[in-house]
Amino acid sequence: MNETEMKDKQFVWHPFTQMKDWVSRPQMVISAAQGIKLIDTDGNEFYDGVSSLWVNIHGHRKAEIDQAIVEQLGKVAHTTMLGLANIPASQLAEQLVAVAPPGLTKVFYSDDGSTAVEVALKMAFQYWQHKGKTGKQKFIALEQAYHGDTVGTVSVGGIDLFHRVFKPLLFTPVHIPAPSCYHCRLSSDQAVCGMQCVTVLEQVLAEHHEEIAGMVIEPLVQAAAGMLMSPPGYLAKIRELTRKYDVLLIVDEVATGFGRTGKMFACEHEQVSPDMMTLSKGITGGYLPLAATLTTQAIYDAFLGDYADKKTFYHGHSYTGNPLACAAALANLKIFREERVIEGLAAKIAAAAAKLEQIGKLAHAGDVRQCGLIVGIELMQDKDRKAPYPWEQAVGARVCLQARKYGLIIRPIGDVVIFMPPLASTVKEIEEMLDIIHRSIQEVTERTFINSDSLQPTDL
Ligand SMILES: *Cc1c(COP(=O)(O)O)cnc(C)c1O
Repeated sequence: MNETEMKDKQFVWHPFTQMKDWVSRPQMVISAAQGIKLIDTDGNEFYDGVSSLWVNIHGHRKAEIDQAIVEQLGKVAHTTMLGLANIPASQLAEQLVAVAPPGLTKVFYSDDGSTAVEVALKMAFQYWQHKGKTGKQKFIALEQAYHGDTVGTVSVGGIDLFHRVFKPLLFTPVHIPAPSCYHCRLSSDQAVCGMQCVTVLEQVLAEHHEEIAGMVIEPLVQAAAGMLMSPPGYLAKIRELTRKYDVLLIVDEVATGFGRTGKMFACEHEQVSPDMMTLSKGITGGYLPLAATLTTQAIYDAFLGDYADKKTFYHGHSYTGNPLACAAALANLKIFREERVIEGLAAKIAAAAAKLEQIGKLAHAGDVRQCGLIVGIELMQDKDRKAPYPWEQAVGARVCLQARKYGLIIRPIGDVVIFMPPLASTVKEIEEMLDIIHRSIQEVTERTFINSDSLQPTDL
């Protein structure tokens, strides 16, 4: 065990990690990276197959982003946005508004995906207070949703394993069935089944819209639920209904934003302009923590008033609008423009689809889901009967460990193998990574388990 691993095991508590397992096994220490590869302290190289938890876009050590941060460092690393403006934050706000769906014209900064959603919830709540519709205090959220880990965002979450224990702490949203629910996935006509969920929503809205401030949704893909896809037309329908019933639509693009789905934002697939959009993960190209909640002029205007009116949005963080992070985000957007990143995605997405078709033929690849460069491969013990593996066997985690032997880092969600490569990956690299996944699934699922209790499931 090297010195870092020793110190880590003695002093560090890892996120979403059973530390009893962590300390009992050898752990990898990443000390460098180049392009889409991570390098460990022994000098081994691995593909970063989940973009360092869905954040990395253009690869690591991207010269333009490195340089932008260094240049900003030569000026100032951080100043507060409480009472002061800074250059990168104002430039970035202008550019985010320019690329965002029409109608989103104001940018409120925070630090991570959870705070971006937390801001949206509080802003929506206060908005209706200012508008005099003080009864509008509740939120609609989807079952199996994930919007972050703070108390507010866990409240609108719907993943039982993560959220159940905190229930006494939470406010209660109106949960509606997700269009990607287990029932829908088993249905032969997914689109029809998904649209039945719309009927439930319409009933809730018709009866309760006077109590409902907003609806929060992950567009196209419920990511942390295991990459569950919504049927085409669902998001547009949600927009239509929320508008009809005067409920604010908060679209959480934290996972889907910045090219992941094949377009800059998932909203664009269905020409949807939400009332609020939350951004984080890919915003700095995967370099530094930063988030933004974008909203409309109408919502912004509702907070204007005389100082004594106390209409101010009383929310902010120490590092809000951090200049280093904003400089990285500006470089990120510049690369999108100069390298025509979005235009280059179609070929990569198609290459992934072709490989996934092969993977789908494996005996235990129960359901293969793809949206752009977001992939979830759900492993099942009995594919025909759609029967899952016993949870304790941790088959998803085993496949991911197997993939490491072939030089690929991936991380499962239960028995869903997640593949989310940096957008900068070439067609050849995407094919190589999916070949490793194919082989790893085959090796793990098509042989009997000898010692199934040696490994615990990984939660996320
Ligand atoms: C990851 C994620 C979040 C939370 O972001 P953090 O930066 O981890 O706080 C929120 N919403 C969605 C859709 C996410 O995927």
